[in-house]
Amino acid sequence: MFSSKEEFKKQFLQRLEMMCGKSFAESSKDDQFDTLGHMIREHVSKNWISTNERYRSKNGKQVYYLSIEFLLGRLLRSNLMNLGIDKLVDEGLRELGINLNEIEEIESDAGLGNGGLGRLAACFLDSLASSGLPGHGFGIRYKHGLFEQKIVEGYQVELPELWLRHGQVWEVRKADLSVEVPFWGKIKSFEENGRLQFLHEDAERITAVPYDVPVIGYYNDTVNTLRLWNAEPSPFPIHRNVMKYKRNTEMVSEFLYPDDTNDEGKILRLKQQYFLVSASICSIVRSYMKSHRNLKQFHHHVCIHINDTHPVLAIPELMRILMDEGGLGWEDAWEVTTASISYTNHTTLSEALEKWPVRIFQPLLPRIYMIVHEINERFCKQLWEKYPGDWQRIEQMAIIAHDQVKMAHLALVGSFSVNGVAALHTEILKNREMNDFYQIFPEKFNNKTNGITHRRWLLKSNQDLASLITEGIGSEWIRQPLKLQELLRYRDDSAFLERLKTIKQQNKLKLAKRIREQTGIQIDPLSIFDVQVKRLHAYKRQLLNVLHIIHLYNCLKDEPNVHIYPRTFIFGAKASPGYYYAKKIIKLINTVAEKVNKDPEVNKKLKVIFLENYRVSLAEEIFPAADVSEQISTASKEASGTGNMKFMMNGAITIGTLDGANVEIKELVGDDNIFIFGLKADEVLNYQGYRSLEYYHFDKRIRKVLEGLISGFFPNIDDEFEAIYDSLLMENDQYFVLRDFDSYVSAQKKVTYTYTNQEQWLKMSLTNIAQSGHFSSDRTINEYATDIWGIDSK
Ligand SMILES: *Cc1c(COP(=O)(O)O)cnc(C)c1O
Repeated sequence: MFSSKEEFKKQFLQRLEMMCGKSFAESSKDDQFDTLGHMIREHVSKNWISTNERYRSKNGKQVYYLSIEFLLGRLLRSNLMNLGIDKLVDEGLRELGINLNEIEEIESDAGLGNGGLGRLAACFLDSLASSGLPGHGFGIRYKHGLFEQKIVEGYQVELPELWLRHGQVWEVRKADLSVEVPFWGKIKSFEENGRLQFLHEDAERITAVPYDVPVIGYYNDTVNTLRLWNAEPSPFPIHRNVMKYKRNTEMVSEFLYPDDTNDEGKILRLKQQYFLVSASICSIVRSYMKSHRNLKQFHHHVCIHINDTHPVLAIPELMRILMDEGGLGWEDAWEVTTASISYTNHTTLSEALEKWPVRIFQPLLPRIYMIVHEINERFCKQLWEKYPGDWQRIEQMAIIAHDQVKMAHLALVGSFSVNGVAALHTEILKNREMNDFYQIFPEKFNNKTNGITHRRWLLKSNQDLASLITEGIGSEWIRQPLKLQELLRYRDDSAFLERLKTIKQQNKLKLAKRIREQTGIQIDPLSIFDVQVKRLHAYKRQLLNVLHIIHLYNCLKDEPNVHIYPRTFIFGAKASPGYYYAKKIIKLINTVAEKVNKDPEVNKKLKVIFLENYRVSLAEEIFPAADVSEQISTASKEASGTGNMKFMMNGAITIGTLDGANVEIKELVGDDNIFIFGLKADEVLNYQGYRSLEYYHFDKRIRKVLEGLISGFFPNIDDEFEAIYDSLLMENDQYFVLRDFDSYVSAQKKVTYTYTNQEQWLKMSLTNIAQSGHFSSDRTINEYATDIWGIDSK
């Protein structure tokens, strides 16, 4: 579109006047952002159409990735980069007196997700398009993404997030492709032409309107689609109370994860799940029918991937469409469905495994319930034949039991592939959590270790490091990230290491500046930046990190001259609004921060920073500046982690347990380039007779830290942290915080000691960057494409 910078400037100015009805001199940054965004979207529309035509004419297989979350962050800079026009636009704007960095800041993060799972989906979209693969996303266009977090007097406060306030420049509304989704009502069955027909009467119908967002590949003319569904009243509402109907309807795409502690909330969540699934499957089948006739061939042309169990109703919904609308019999429909659907498991934490009460499920989704019921009947019969008389096993494995629908079981039975997200996680699924299912479907299980897009997390967010790498080994690593390994030849090159150090130092200065602006606190840019950023969860053990900080504080108070290398502990974390314990930990971090940062006897050596509202755009500023990556979950609990990979790719060194993908990081970099501590997964899973009180009694460092928690350390708030104290001592410390304390303190000493040897540290850092190519999501996506989906870019 822009043959030159001059051409770009000309079009930009024209466009701005047309769109905003203002002269350039009068225009605001918002106007300039909107103009640029619309120009880019139009610029890709040709390739968007031709990509779709190419897929259709090839008549190959396409994959649809269904996810309740897509944590996209900002798109402006990554779109410009993938199109290869970032430099041109940057310079063109500069000549007009506009700073592209400032324009970038105008864009709200698309925060349509909670954390790792949603960010994975976003990285996968980028890798699919950049690998030229026919893969598209389906999600929900939540009016409010994840809440905005403010810290007020140390407590988390949640504000509604308003990412659509200025409209969204990237999306295209396609009302003509809307789909009606029915809820409630009754199913009437009758025979016609010798077949049973089902009629859904008195349903509340919600219209799903697609908003399509282009997903731009890296320098390859591919533009895939992310389709986000918006819930709207149907055009002809036949309702007694129209206002109430309208409210009920719009609520479906209003919030990400509405509170589900009561039945009303549960209904809303299940509604969201079926809304996503029904609209998406309907749209997929429609598009299939445009170029094919025979639904029995569906699975040769379509793969539907479900990201965790939230979209698992894709299974009964596809059955319903194949049978009730396509006229297939049960056996044929089942064969097609189970050959079309693949499933990723993201957790083994039992509280996170979805179950829905039948009393909610059945009335809300009457036809879908009938189908799930039939799937369950047939599955139990099969089990009975295999394990005659073993009622206990059958009850455990059933999809519906004790008036609950178990979504993971439905996914295991109704899909052809089940994958875990890191080698250790997949082993735990096979050998423990899902062992019953592994015994009957061993061929379904496989591992796909997570990844991150190196384009966003290195090329875009750490441009100086990316340039240094290219200077060192050429630019091929951008297309083939495994080539980062060639950096290893600089391990003994002190000039190169020195430049690596300078870049890290500059990134740290930038973050320090940002921290000062945001919190008013001046941190020492020469201190070790020790970072833990991720959702707040008991199993992620931010608490272990805080207890260590309190311990360091105690050491400094006891012996002011004790050698502690200056450190800045940086946290970022949102807690789920109803998660009382997690919110207490946030309060604890902030309380410790206040005390440490204000104490002149220690604050030259220790600082504690809590950055509020952790999100993708903030993450992009943090990773490049980190020295130490905290990955300290209780072994066996973190399925994979992806934050660990972003840190590694930016040259931070991991202190971590052998959990999730940390295990694979360790294998790649070797024992000398990572700090491993704590119990191993099998030790945690098989632990006999843990008594946290013993650690309290026998380790006086622990005793002093915990006593401080409830008396004296924080003046006037002795009961604030009782719940934390109790969890560790009265409730026997479910996550082995005290058990791993000693090991963690030792590992942290080793971190300090190693950091003082800068040359060694830089070598470790370089090794981590060099080995991080394995964790590009391009590698992950190509494994999915080959092993699960059977798609290619030809
Ligand atoms: C990568 C990422 C996560 C996941 O972090 P983990 O440490 O793997 O839990 C969560 N939130 C955001 C904003 C991220 O970028």
